[in-house]
Formats: sequence, C-alpha cells, structure tokens
Amino acid sequence: MLFGAHVSIQGGIHKAPEQAAALGCECFQIFSRSPRGGPAKILTREIIREFRAACDRHEQKAWYIHAPYYVNLASHNPRIRNASIRAVREELERGRAIGATAVMTHLGSARETPKTDGLRRAMESVHIVLQRYRGKTKLLAEIAAGSGGIIGDSFEELAQMVRHTGGRCGICFDTQHAFASGYDLRTTDTVKETLDAFDAIIGLEHLELSHCSDSLTTLGSRKDRHGYIGEGEIGKRGFRAILAEPRFRMINFVLETKLEDVPQDLRILKRIRRSLGC
Ligand SMILES: [Zn+2]
Ligand SMILES: [Zn+2]
Repeated sequence: MLFGAHVSIQGGIHKAPEQAAALGCECFQIFSRSPRGGPAKILTREIIREFRAACDRHEQKAWYIHAPYYVNLASHNPRIRNASIRAVREELERGRAIGATAVMTHLGSARETPKTDGLRRAMESVHIVLQRYRGKTKLLAEIAAGSGGIIGDSFEELAQMVRHTGGRCGICFDTQHAFASGYDLRTTDTVKETLDAFDAIIGLEHLELSHCSDSLTTLGSRKDRHGYIGEGEIGKRGFRAILAEPRFRMINFVLETKLEDVPQDLRILKRIRRSLGC
C-alpha cells in the first residue's frame, strides 16, 4: 500500500520523480503528454534513462500514466474514437518504455446513442488498443461518475469490459467516483459490502489501483466533485475503513489534488496507515 499523487511533467518527465518525493509521495502518476491534445514529445533513450535514475534516486516505487482527458473510447464519432484508441495505445507503449505499472483511462461517454451502444463501442475500442500489445504495463479503466451516458460507472459495466478483454484490462477504483456512483465507503461495513460487490461482479484480482479523494457530493449523486481527504462525505472514518480493509491494502493510492495540497492529504493518509500498524 503505497501513497502518491499526480504530479506535473513541467521541464520533462525526468523531473517528475523529484517533485513526487518532495511532496511526500511513494509512488506517482503523470500525464506523459499534454492532457488536452497535440502530439506527444518523443521519449528518447536519454530521457528514459534520466527518468529511471531519478525514480531510483528519489525512492519512488511505482509510477503510472493517466491517458489524456480528451479520450472518448465510447464516442459514436469514428474520428474521435480512432484518435482516442491511438492516444491510449501510444500511452501504453510510452508506459512500457518508462516502466510504468499501468496506464489508466476514462472510457468516455455516449450522449447521442443508447448507453449499451456506447459500452459496446468502448469495449471494442479497448480490444483494439490491446491488439498485439505484449507489454507489462497494464491498461486500467477508471470507474466513472457522472450523468449523460457516462460509461463505466457501475461494477456491471466494468465487469463486461474486463471480461471482453479476457482480463487484460484492469480497474482503477476512484473513491470519489465510486461513491458518487452509489458505492458506499463511509463505514467498515459499507466498505466491506462495496468490495464484496466488486469481487462478486468484477473479481478482486482486477482491482489494480485507487484514485483517492473525498467526495463533495452525496452518495449516488452522480456528480464528479473531489474533496480533501476527510473533508467530504466519505470522511476520515470512511478513509480509515478503506485503509483498514485488507483487500485495499494490496493496492496503491494516488491523489489527484492540487500540488500545493498534496502534502497535507498524504500526511493524513500516512497517519491513518501508521495508526493501523501497517
Ligand atoms: Zn482519471
Ligand atoms: Zn473525478
């Protein structure tokens, strides 16, 4: 159970490990390119070597890439869908080049067509992304929160995705998104129930990572609103229950809060972990 955060790649990806360490991270996440578009900067051997050396030097144990925001693998527009497939595949190859544990992506949304069609397109897109891919860096679909045809907001949809890929696509469990999508995380009992459901529907072996933030909206609100750890509806009690749950101890937790607020949230998580004696 490592704690980390999404950090910036300003000045190049090889600068990220130092920034992560300075914030108190044990692992970290980056965008390997601008999240809003444009071609990705080439990762030369030199950059990769520097990056790996910096990870060692700053004692980072795992790193992840978040695919760009514009990705919509469920879009009914073939141009958008194909660009998304290309971007996610590229990120997987870039992840492999830098030794990333995983690349996580949002599946996207399908506003114009029935949700089942959107899910079908997303599954097909992920299938194409993984075609002839042999790298160790794993692809993860992130549980979503939202309305308007958002894909991947239920364990059932995520399970279909995982099965469609023969287990090659894993899951990133975003605590706020899960909570907003109706999965309760406020007490020991509800955390257990949520994970029991995850295990029964998706299979716990597909749980690979957690994005970790409190929720500024209520259970099942379908709104994507992140808050500081302990300052939202999940609360300190909820995060204590999450970190105490043995099945959550197997994975790492990544914050996506503003950089200046990362140290405070990491301190809270580490304090809870210490109090649990692990
Ligand atoms: Zn995300
Ligand atoms: Zn979110």
